[in-house]
Amino acid sequence: MPQVVVVGAGLTGLTVAFRVKRWAANVSIVVLEPRERPGGNIGTEWHNGFRVERGPNGFLDRTPAVPDLVRDLGLSERLIAASEGSRKNRYVFVRGRLHKLPSGPWTLLTTPLLSLHGKWQLFTEPWRKSQPTRADESVHEFVTRRAGREAADIFADALVTGIHGGDPQQLSVAATFPRLPIMEREAGSIIRGFLQAARQRKNEAKAQGVPPPGPMRMWSFREGLQVLIDALAQQLGEAVQYGVAVRSITPAADGSGWLIHTDRTHYTADAVVLTCPAYEQAAILQDCDRVLADEIAGIPYNRIAVVALGYHHEHCPTALDGFGYIAPQNTRRDLLGVQWCSSIFPDRAPPGFVLWRALCGGVHRGDQVDWDDDRLVNAVHREIQQAMGVTGEPVFHRIIRWPRAIPQYVCGHLERIARIDELVARHRGLFLTGNAYRGVAMADCVEQAGLVAAQVASTVVAASKTRTPSGDHHAPA
Ligand SMILES: Cc1cc2nc3c(=O)[nH]c(=O)nc-3n(C[C@H](O)[C@H](O)[C@H](O)COP(=O)(O)OP(=O)(O)OC[C@H]3O[C@@H](n4cnc5c(N)ncnc54)[C@H](O)[C@@H]3O)c2cc1C
Repeated sequence: MPQVVVVGAGLTGLTVAFRVKRWAANVSIVVLEPRERPGGNIGTEWHNGFRVERGPNGFLDRTPAVPDLVRDLGLSERLIAASEGSRKNRYVFVRGRLHKLPSGPWTLLTTPLLSLHGKWQLFTEPWRKSQPTRADESVHEFVTRRAGREAADIFADALVTGIHGGDPQQLSVAATFPRLPIMEREAGSIIRGFLQAARQRKNEAKAQGVPPPGPMRMWSFREGLQVLIDALAQQLGEAVQYGVAVRSITPAADGSGWLIHTDRTHYTADAVVLTCPAYEQAAILQDCDRVLADEIAGIPYNRIAVVALGYHHEHCPTALDGFGYIAPQNTRRDLLGVQWCSSIFPDRAPPGFVLWRALCGGVHRGDQVDWDDDRLVNAVHREIQQAMGVTGEPVFHRIIRWPRAIPQYVCGHLERIARIDELVARHRGLFLTGNAYRGVAMADCVEQAGLVAAQVASTVVAASKTRTPSGDHHAPA
């Protein structure tokens, strides 16, 4: 029976294993995980009625990847959509107060977030002729060139902070928002590109006789994202081995597969899939391919502290029917932003209370992750007081520190990925995936996991067909 070892039981590793198991029935699969629980960045905690997400708060249905996985796990009925208010009402904290982010042309025209000049630059984007100043532009450079500096400082910054906790001046637009440069190339403008894409989706739906697709939505489960992780882990059963950290991998002496070394023992495999964070993948690959390991080690991470605070509802005068707010870099003090968790999904706080999650740190204030609990709680509470006019003290807090939280796709990331792909292709049966490469969102991780699982399944099935019953290997025909 072909053997597959998956390294890491985060969302990516669990999904790879689940898919390989489904698509290649005669494969023996093992998932190795150093912690005592599955899920990696994902996990839901429950403290006296407050339901706190450790990492992601929900996932977007930008592609069918996560909804399909949820369906295959039999969980579709348990999904809950984010509230309508959280989709429509998103804020930025600028010049000491909250401003609603514009959601359409009229609100863009009237928003106080942009000057007249800023609005003019944004609205004239479809007619702007400009060429990239360098091959791999940053998000900030790209948006400034297309829509003006003010739009870049506020809207692009809010987007990058909200998804990556990163710096728009460092992140590559082609790696983080690949559709934008494509729209510029194909439609000559971002606004025109979005309008064309919307028209195309509408026409396709009409041709298929189905209703036009609604706006993208965020989803979770009433009991939190832990539901998804638990279902995956349950499907895999004893295939997931906890408390096992992989230290290195080396090709088997006869070149037929891999040896996976842990502190206690080693495993053999026809295919090995690394899904752990990039810095761990680099360490694991040091002995086997130093050049490849060094490329992977070059992918940087930010640092994030998640500070969840609970308040009495009566102490929160601001109407809280929304998603929360982002603090753009040029006006930021201590917080990247705040998510109003109990306004987004039900059952996040006991009746009469609210639950909010502040994200602190990021690429420029990583030191905050090392602040002690009191200092973090006080900093978050002070800013929340100012932004939302909270009158009472928090009744609950929980802090989760991520010393290496989200990989940053800085300029040059796509070239690095191309070099990594070329080097990996020299190692038969080695697969690298996870959030360090082709998208950090849960939707990206699940989509990539599905693609890799299909490659793994076909590789091990093809390899097993070239073996004699005694287990000797034949050269492929
Ligand atoms: C604070 C925060 C908020 C986020 N918010 C959102 C959000 O709202 N929406 C969204 O879509 N995404 C969000 N993300 C991103 C998303 O959670 C991650 O990109 C995704 O969960 C990554 O999954 P993964 O399996 O690729 O990696 P990980 O979750 O990092 O899993 C990797 C696994 O590998 C294991 N491992 C490490 N070393 C070894 C070793 N030596 N041997 C074996 N195993 C090892 C780890 O223990 C871990 O379990 C957020 C991330 C963070 C940190």
